[in-house]
Amino acid sequence: MNQYESDVLIVGSGLAALMVAYECSSDCHVTIITKSSWQDTNSYKAQGGIAVRQGQDDDTFLTDTLSAGHHQNNATNVNILVSESEAAIKTLNDLGVPFDDQPDGTLHCTKEGGHSRRRILHAGGDATGKHIVTAFKKVLDQSKNVDIFEYMTATELMVKNGLCHGLVAKTEQQTLAAFQAKHTILATGGIGGLYHTTSNSQSLIGDGIAIAHQAGARVSGMEFIQFHPTMLAAGGQAKALISEAVRGEGGILVNQKGQKVMAGVHPQRDLAPRDIVARTLYRAIQKGDQIALDISCVKSFHRRFPNIAQICEAKGIDLAQERIPVSPGAHFLMGGIVTDAYGRTDIKGLYAVGETANTGVHGVNRLASNSLLEACVFARRLAHMIIRRPVSTREKINVDDERSINLDSHPLTTAHDIRTLMEGSAGMIRTEQRLVSALRQLERWLGPFHDVKRTRLSLQQLKIANMLYVSRLIVSAALQRKESLGAHYRGDSTHIYDKTSLVGGRR
Ligand SMILES: Cc1cc2nc3c(=O)[nH]c(=O)nc-3n(C[C@H](O)[C@H](O)[C@H](O)COP(=O)(O)OP(=O)(O)OC[C@H]3O[C@@H](n4cnc5c(N)ncnc54)[C@H](O)[C@@H]3O)c2cc1C
Repeated sequence: MNQYESDVLIVGSGLAALMVAYECSSDCHVTIITKSSWQDTNSYKAQGGIAVRQGQDDDTFLTDTLSAGHHQNNATNVNILVSESEAAIKTLNDLGVPFDDQPDGTLHCTKEGGHSRRRILHAGGDATGKHIVTAFKKVLDQSKNVDIFEYMTATELMVKNGLCHGLVAKTEQQTLAAFQAKHTILATGGIGGLYHTTSNSQSLIGDGIAIAHQAGARVSGMEFIQFHPTMLAAGGQAKALISEAVRGEGGILVNQKGQKVMAGVHPQRDLAPRDIVARTLYRAIQKGDQIALDISCVKSFHRRFPNIAQICEAKGIDLAQERIPVSPGAHFLMGGIVTDAYGRTDIKGLYAVGETANTGVHGVNRLASNSLLEACVFARRLAHMIIRRPVSTREKINVDDERSINLDSHPLTTAHDIRTLMEGSAGMIRTEQRLVSALRQLERWLGPFHDVKRTRLSLQQLKIANMLYVSRLIVSAALQRKESLGAHYRGDSTHIYDKTSLVGGRR
């Protein structure tokens, strides 16, 4: 088996991973492993932008974040997010991220749902993520201290006596590789790939959450999944994201009769928090309405949103009609691996950062454009802590080279069936009956994997095992939470949390 050693091992190649690597690379040897190509991340796909405080007197950034999160946020960490936002953006500026500016040379800020003012920076119009991660990659490619392994899937953590020593990964050729490190960081992103209708890369199924939880790390908030209201709905399927920034620039949600769908629903109408907009659309679609985004009021649509225009045209949408058909889809996980404000998990030497971590900043519903910011701010903090507190060499761990196991005699379920189950039972509106039946089904499907060591599974089996494992975490959490709260909506409950009684929040 190939064995590698480094100071810092990072799983994932999205923004959270790249920020940690960049900040650590001057002092430490960093290894990045990623299960696909380095660009196959949600970070690369991010369109709308990244939020940043607009000066010391921008108090509403904090209150907007708390309000979108239904005041269930970890208020200390929200304070950190807001107060360290300018420093995080400075890092991006120093790297040369080409944020879009205005004719007078100042940066252009847009507005999205739940924000009470314009505070969202963007690049390439609607290609913010691509520009940010490309800027990082350029710098990291030149560093002698950073190695990147693509198509390398983290499989199982090496934890001994409560200390994480690295992990075992699997190559595309199904061979095992041992990566030992003083610090192991999971930056494995979200779980959208558990649903058919999602804005996420289909490969994002919560691997990091599965392997951390199996090793004994706490996971929480798994029932809180944000469904984005506006995925492009072409040919009966949701295909890609239509950023909320389109509504920020004047786009309006209408039904087939041209009636404004959000009128009278919420004071912020089309820019109301995402859970409210998404549920309103979901109900309208269930009733048989066809929802579209009316872009007739968006100035210079093609120039402002070149990427979205191209996506629409490629899917056969005639933008001259100024209507983009939309429907909601799974977008972002608010919960995840429980961490403190430095990414530390319950297991010493193991950290989580970015969407896979639950820092509590998003509460039970994320404010738009706060996740790129969370990835930047908390990744910087983690990296700075690692640099400040070097640890001595770790003991060497022996890893057995194991053959893949033959599970052929067991009928395994498919990714398609798991997605159908999750969409039907743990989607936007949940009921006890559907959740109980889903949990039973997941237990049945998990049967063949009981007592099988993860390193002995083929990559395909590992994918199914992780999908089932994380789905079970989501369904169990959704079942336990009987009331509707934020992004978690129980169709069979009349009880809705009184958010004002919960100010101060909890994780
Ligand atoms: C279409 C779209 C648009 C968005 N727009 C915005 C926006 O405008 N503003 C905003 O703030 N947020 C936006 N978001 C959300 C935001 O992009 C993500 O929350 C954020 O980028 C997550 O970053 P990350 O580094 O945590 O994970 P990701 O960027 O998703 O990266 C996860 C990485 O982990 C790797 N990985 C996973 N499992 C394994 C494994 N077992 N082994 C090895 N590697 C593994 C993946 O291959 C990937 O490299 C958007 C999301 C989508 C999908």
